[in-house]
Amino acid sequence: MERTLILFKPDCVQRRLVGRVLARFEDKGLNVVAMKMMQITPELAKKHYAEHVEKAWYPTLEGFITGAPVVAAIIEGLEAIRVIRDMLGATSGLKAAAGTIRGDFSSSRQMNLVHASDGPEAAAREMKLYFRDEEICASEPTLRPWLRASDEN
Ligand code: ADP
Ligand code: MG
Repeated sequence: MERTLILFKPDCVQRRLVGRVLARFEDKGLNVVAMKMMQITPELAKKHYAEHVEKAWYPTLEGFITGAPVVAAIIEGLEAIRVIRDMLGATSGLKAAAGTIRGDFSSSRQMNLVHASDGPEAAAREMKLYFRDEEICASEPTLRPWLRASDEN
């Protein structure tokens, strides 16, 4: 079982798409174990996007991600990190395949609605940036026997 850090970015919140995007994760059988609305500070943005801080376009990214509230979540499931990245599609909404979240809802390389951790190390690092251990509410969904076979762990 894997956990990954999701951000419903400011464009997703402002466009009232959080519910529809969250429903896709729920429909897939993924399990939300933590969620909160918050405003990202420039300090947190620099930690979150450490790999991009030196890029020419980082200032516009920071302005975007800190400019209005986000909803942060931890989502759990088998191979959840890759499964959710596949559900998001390519970074730019103009390149993302139709049927993906970005492909269906975004026409921008920056305003692409959702962030998801891109690997196990990023997921561990990012979950710690946004949530304390006691904010994670793990629970076994009662639907579990109908989501996958008992030998699929
Ligand atoms: P991803 O979110 O798919 O992992 P990246 O790690 O490459 O994408 O970039 C992080 C975020 O920075 C993107 O989701 C997007 O919001 C923004 N971004 C990426 N490339 C650009 C760009 N050329 N100009 C402005 N913003 C960008
Ligand atoms: Mg990335």
